[in-house]
Amino acid sequence: MLITGTLLLPDERKGGHAVRLSTGSLLVRDGRIAELREGEPAGTPDLGGDDALILPGFIDAHVHLPQFDSIGADGMELLEWLERVVYPAEARWADPDFAGAMALRACRQLASFGTTGIAAYLTVHHESSLAAARAVEAFGLRAVVGQTLMDREAPAELTRPAMQLLAEADAFVESLAGRPRIRAAVTPRFAVACTPELLAGAGAIAKRTGSPVQTHLAETEAECRRVAELFGGTPYAEVYDRAGLLGDRTILGHGIRLDEADRATLARTRSVVAHCPTANTFLRAGSMDRAGLRRAGVRLALGSDVAGGPDRSMVRVARAMLETAKARGDTPPAAADCWRQITAGNADALGWTDSGRITPTAWADLVVVAPDVPWRDAPDPPARLLYAWDDRWITATLAAGRLVYTRA
Ligand SMILES: [Zn+2]
Repeated sequence: MLITGTLLLPDERKGGHAVRLSTGSLLVRDGRIAELREGEPAGTPDLGGDDALILPGFIDAHVHLPQFDSIGADGMELLEWLERVVYPAEARWADPDFAGAMALRACRQLASFGTTGIAAYLTVHHESSLAAARAVEAFGLRAVVGQTLMDREAPAELTRPAMQLLAEADAFVESLAGRPRIRAAVTPRFAVACTPELLAGAGAIAKRTGSPVQTHLAETEAECRRVAELFGGTPYAEVYDRAGLLGDRTILGHGIRLDEADRATLARTRSVVAHCPTANTFLRAGSMDRAGLRRAGVRLALGSDVAGGPDRSMVRVARAMLETAKARGDTPPAAADCWRQITAGNADALGWTDSGRITPTAWADLVVVAPDVPWRDAPDPPARLLYAWDDRWITATLAAGRLVYTRA
């Protein structure tokens, strides 16, 4: 398959930490980018064309597939929202058929917004989590997914004894082993809903199997208070560190209320904080100190956190990241940094060296875009594209070289 247009490429002059735009063509073979040529393209493209913009597929580093029908339940603080909105939605996943079908629906929506890679939470239900994982894999997204583990402070129908959950988490890792596009993450929901025994067991599984870890960290004040009560005042990041859950494959959602010691713990363990600015605004959780965390050497990713975050588009989440920094009075990231964050930046955070970038041998996870605003001669083309962004510009999304969305 030949794809031509203006390509969003990593900018090696800046150590690959920025992006540049260049006319060129891509040859896609066996799900990967086989060839990349810059300059005027030759041949009739299968996708794209002179006016097309070709972007790496977007990556969402923190999202909840069972919550896609729960967007916009407003007016509650986190713990109340979990109890009244999220837990009832997750209880519906007791039925594996429902879970598989809903995961597929969520994948279709994500692809229509240009997302081709996810780090996603499922539910506590083992069979349903497996059904959802199979649906994600069959659809074609690149994914890290986890059965969510909870053994307290949640409805009885969504909690299980720690021993059972640990056996299931182990089996979940085992059943996704060796797959090219999907991987299991050990996923204790957060310290409030997990006993020390469950957290330590989860840490042991992650260590033994080398699996990624997903959990939530320091999103709201009430949550942090509860963690302090439950863990005898142990600092929140240290609760996870003591359980062996921190490391360079660990993605922690939010990280808003972190003191210097917490930040040092995260930096030392090379853990990643998934910044979720749209969710933080929606649940009025506060705003993450992105600049401060960066200064402390904490690795960062970006996530939609649907349905805490109402927006499924990673482009709008990236814009919210920029606007959050502005509202805090911090130096905001450049628009080019925003594009990099939702592509190669999030890929790096997830340890995916062959995703999120348009480069030979990388997965052909691509978004074909037809902007309806002049952008090539804008003073800052990435900024024009970011601020004027319209999902209707997406004409096609490819996951591993396969069309997973085309605009009608
Ligand atoms: Zn979340």
